[in-house]
Amino acid sequence: MQRAVRLRDGTCRAPGCGRRARACDLDHSVAWEDGGTTDVGNLACLCRHHHRMKHLPGWNLDLGPGGVLDWTTPDGKLHRIEPDPAPF
Ligand SMILES: [Zn+2]
Repeated sequence: MQRAVRLRDGTCRAPGCGRRARACDLDHSVAWEDGGTTDVGNLACLCRHHHRMKHLPGWNLDLGPGGVLDWTTPDGKLHRIEPDPAPF
């Protein structure tokens, strides 16, 4: 499953970050303690820096169908990030 998420994402899923998926954490979009499941539809690759950043006040991250991520920044801007699969 980890491999499937890393292949789908290719890189860290934060806006403008190109860190390779294999060097990233697998983040639960809905936290496990909030009922989030450990499956491809609830996991996304985030580098350690962006993994920590998403937990800071004002940031929000929603993972939608097909791995589309919607980031909301503290100033209210929305950034939609599509998966960028790694080349085979
Ligand atoms: Zn990153």
